Order: sequence, then C-alpha cells, then structure tokens
Amino acid sequence: MRFCSLASGSNGNATLVEGPDGPLLVDVGLSWREMTRRAARAGMSTTDLSWIVLTHEHSDHVRGLKTALRRGLRVAATQGTLRALGVDGIPLEPGLELAGITVTPFPVAHDAAQPVGLRLDTPDVRLALVTDLGRVTPEVLAAMRHCTHLLVEANHDTEMLLTGPYPWPLKMRILGPNGHLANEETARALARLGPDGPKTVLLAHLSRENNSPARALESVAGALNGSPAALYLTYPDRPSAVVCS
Ligand SMILES: [Zn+2]
Ligand SMILES: [Zn+2]
Repeated sequence: MRFCSLASGSNGNATLVEGPDGPLLVDVGLSWREMTRRAARAGMSTTDLSWIVLTHEHSDHVRGLKTALRRGLRVAATQGTLRALGVDGIPLEPGLELAGITVTPFPVAHDAAQPVGLRLDTPDVRLALVTDLGRVTPEVLAAMRHCTHLLVEANHDTEMLLTGPYPWPLKMRILGPNGHLANEETARALARLGPDGPKTVLLAHLSRENNSPARALESVAGALNGSPAALYLTYPDRPSAVVCS
C-alpha cells in the first residue's frame, strides 16, 4: 500500500491510497482537475480510480464529488452522510473491501450527520485516518492502536485560536466536543498509545489562522519522545510525502 494526502485543511481534503487491487480515494474536497493534477505531482495515478470513500458531508470533503459521480465513480459512505448529500452509494459498514483494502469506519464526534474516521487495512499495513473530530473517544483511541501509519488531525493551537481573529461562536464550535482536535489533544492521544503507536504519523487539517506547522510539529514531537515514528506534515495547497510500506 502507498498513500498520500493530496490536500488537507478547511479548504479541501483528499487522500489517495493505492491498495493491492488499485487506487482508492478518501474524500474529494478538491475540484477533480486539481485532484488529478496533485496526484500526478505526487507520482500517483487516478486513472483506475473507481471508488471514493467519504468521511462526512462537509464541503471541504466533497467539493469534487459531483464531477466524480459524473465520471462514473462510486461512493461508499455512512447512511447519514449519503442522506445528507442526497447521493446513492453503498453503505460504509465494517468488513467492506475495496481495492484490496479492508475499510473499517468508526464514529467520530463532529458536527455532521454521521461522521467517521477510517481504518484501511491490508495484511501488511494498517492505516488510520482520523480528522474532523472534537475529542478522542475510546473508539478513536482503539482505532489508533496497533496501526502502522496514522494520519491525524492537529487543527489548532488552543492559545492561538482563543487570541486569534475568529468570531467567538466559531471559536466555540472549533473548541467544542464536536469540533476539531487541538495539537495538545493529538499529542496526548499519541502519548497514550505508547509502544502500540504507529511508525509513521502525518499531521492533518492544520488551521492556517490558528496553528502553525512548527507549533503542531513541536507539540506532537514532544509526545512521541523516544518513539522512532517518522513525522510528516500535510498541506492545503500541495501533496504530502508519499508514504510507502
Ligand atoms: Zn474538514
Ligand atoms: Zn468537517
């Protein structure tokens, strides 16, 4: 398996995964054209793409969905997400196999209809995608355990958010139990994994206004203290490193 974040943040999210039997796209928060351009830039192909898995219906995750559907791609998502979008798709249920990958959703606390994080497992690789969540619940922590690779939200630095330019209600939404995960919460969750932690961590959905890559890296690197995990960033405007296993 190889994977790459093509975009991450409140302007658009998409992760391209190459499984044993072909590619799989998780979320399509970019225009189709931009998505394929970035995939090519990362040295990955979207030619054989036939499936998109959606985590939830927020626009930063579905912006390119209409075009994808017109091109004949099929969607897998929770019933709540499918209903909220008004599209036909197959229900995302544990045990679903796409592109040779076992796709397992788990609930996350976020202000959408039925949002999920995802475990994408092959015999050799166990990848957890954990973004758009207000808090780390036991289900989330369980999904993060024993994974080899983890793409996890580090949305904001709480101090920067509180003193930053956002209007108060938006600050409260982000900080709330169904909002987004702060650097320090991500760091705490990683610290709790201990020796069950992943060998690769990608920090995702960083806020441009309320975080900085340096702050996010610093918080999380502290929590990984002593662990040999490789730490990467994801970006709003370009692909991340391609992680191979
Ligand atoms: Zn989002
Ligand atoms: Zn969201």
